[in-house]
Amino acid sequence: MGIYTAKVVVGRSGGLNLETAAELIARARHGVAFTGAGISQESGIQTYRGAGGLWNTTSSKTSSIEFFLADPAAYWEVARERGARLLAARPNPAHEALVELERRRNLVAVVTQNVDGLHLLAGSAEVVELHGNGRTVVCMDCGNTEPRSHVQARLEEEMPPRCLLCGGRHMKPAAVFFGEAMPPEATRRAFELAEACDLMLVVGSSLVVYPAAQVPIAAHEAGAPLVIVNAEPTPFDDLAKVVIEGRAGEVLPKLLEMVSSRV
Ligand code: NAD
Ligand code: ZN
Repeated sequence: MGIYTAKVVVGRSGGLNLETAAELIARARHGVAFTGAGISQESGIQTYRGAGGLWNTTSSKTSSIEFFLADPAAYWEVARERGARLLAARPNPAHEALVELERRRNLVAVVTQNVDGLHLLAGSAEVVELHGNGRTVVCMDCGNTEPRSHVQARLEEEMPPRCLLCGGRHMKPAAVFFGEAMPPEATRRAFELAEACDLMLVVGSSLVVYPAAQVPIAAHEAGAPLVIVNAEPTPFDDLAKVVIEGRAGEVLPKLLEMVSSRV
């Protein structure tokens, strides 16, 4: 398989890695993108890990179900600002490049760990949200749902926010918290896509959150080449055909341009 058997790792300015990645993407007919918090960093949403990540300043326990259940008001004190940022965020050129690669039929779907809904806002046709979507809030007592924007607007007068239907105090973003299981249907679909794909394009993920990180492993085990675009090294770099170290909002538009310029 010529160049595909050799792994290529080059820094930001390397051209060979970009060429190899563009060729793998251009050849793909059932490619799947697997994205993490890093793809939304340039939209103004903090990642958890890595330089500038939330966990450098805030405890990771604030994203756990135990923390939420023990004290919903304490959770919402932390989530108030994060929620405002999430609602204000707009897709960036990396999200848009994935939409275009789907339109070109190199990719068939995006599997994301993100809860920001930006792939859907950008216009990706099939988006599998492994960790739910924080733009909706669900009452854990009665199941009623409300847009996050409505709940955010009430936080000034009501802490914690109450369910409008049953008065319950456990209004939780419809995102998967640490300690909760991934949604079964999204999980099933993610692995189905991974096992059938002919390329897995990983973008902006530290690849240390399980079981989500098992998705690119499933693709690799099924024989699909991995292309990893991330600002920092990941534990799967050794499995990848190509590792591109860089910012998603710069690298993906460049790859799209290179793919588009091929006949
Ligand atoms: P992570 O926070 O663990 O890691 C993000 C990775 O992205 C890091 O390795 C970092 O080096 C890299 N990165 C940062 N900026 C980048 C950029 N501009 N371009 C490319 N790479 C960049 O994220 P994760 O692996 O997705 O896992 C964290 C968990 O946190 C997930 O389960 C997810 O549900 C949740 N989360 C979601 C959001 C969101 O929805 N936007 C934000 C934070 C955390
Ligand atoms: Zn309720």
